[in-house]
Amino acid sequence: GNNGVINHQDIPNLTKYFPLCMQNLQKSLQMESHLRHGGRMQYGLFLKGIGVSLEESLLFWKKAFSKKFNDDQFQKGYAYNIRHSYGMEGKRTNYSPFSCSKIIMTNPPSTGDHHGCPFRHASTTVLEKMLYQTGINKNHVPEICSLAKLGHYQLACTKMLTIFTNANEEEVENVIHPNRYFDQSYPESEY
Ligand code: SF4
Repeated sequence: GNNGVINHQDIPNLTKYFPLCMQNLQKSLQMESHLRHGGRMQYGLFLKGIGVSLEESLLFWKKAFSKKFNDDQFQKGYAYNIRHSYGMEGKRTNYSPFSCSKIIMTNPPSTGDHHGCPFRHASTTVLEKMLYQTGINKNHVPEICSLAKLGHYQLACTKMLTIFTNANEEEVENVIHPNRYFDQSYPESEY
């Protein structure tokens, strides 16, 4: 990937290259100036996986939370967990970004949560709205939604990737990991 080259101010501009689950987390974070634990884990580890360093990650979350939490509250309530997810606290486990199957099969979102896979966890109405907000050509929305409805969540996501990259279906790998989606969609990625 893009190890260590992404700075915290770049993140909002990169979201168009993110899979829908991560676009949704970024949008929710901007709207609420907060994300609950499941969202912080899913999004934080994804950002780590695209090459956001621990230092940049701390700056990113602090700024994103700043409408609701002052510096001191941020340091006390959230900084430890972020350092922990980078393996710098506790047992020093270096946590890996979640795969699609983990996101789809475990820890489903409750009300007020924004983590999970929208193709799996959002209602068709909400999924349609999210897709329109990405700026995707509206003609593709029914096909993507029906793949999701049939339980082909990752194929729905792969379809979205194919459309956004203007690629032929054969050129695109089936999406099995949000970070692989990014590797394939981000033009400056070495993949
Ligand atoms: Fe995210 Fe994977 Fe769902 Fe795509 S299929 S939205 S990458 S969890």
